[in-house]
Amino acid sequence: MPHDALLATLRSGSEPLAMEEHRLRTTAWFWRKGLGMPSENPLIEAGRTIRAFLPSILDDRAEDFDRRLLVQLRERNVSGVEDVLQSSPKVIDWVGDFTAHGIPPEVALLAERDGGYQAAPGRGIPSPVPRYECPVDHLYVWYRVDPRERVRECPDHPGRLLVRV
Ligand SMILES: [Zn+2]
Repeated sequence: MPHDALLATLRSGSEPLAMEEHRLRTTAWFWRKGLGMPSENPLIEAGRTIRAFLPSILDDRAEDFDRRLLVQLRERNVSGVEDVLQSSPKVIDWVGDFTAHGIPPEVALLAERDGGYQAAPGRGIPSPVPRYECPVDHLYVWYRVDPRERVRECPDHPGRLLVRV
């Protein structure tokens, strides 16, 4: 789906067919990449993945946005997650990029700059970029772009390291 069409779909919230097509495409992408997430709704995946990027996307509104998003994620409320994601044009843009590429746009950008997915083994950004998530409720996702960076703790569960999934 073209980016503009996706945004229009997300903004209007009244295009179930287009949304369904979009969902199927995204799910197909996850299958192809072997990410093992076909059972999870792509909007849920977008919701838990964007959390790590909210401070750079929304600045001082990030905390409140994250709180509202997490409430819906905890209930696995897909339409609730969608409502929260649709409440910010910047977030809509981010979700559009994420679902188009299957990885956060920030990560895609770095991976491209680093020579994309053809980078030599042992050098630069690993391919695919390792994805980590909270081992407790799986509602926080982080991509470890730099292998030298220490694995982070879940912001919701202090002391619990994210695990590679
Ligand atoms: Zn957690």
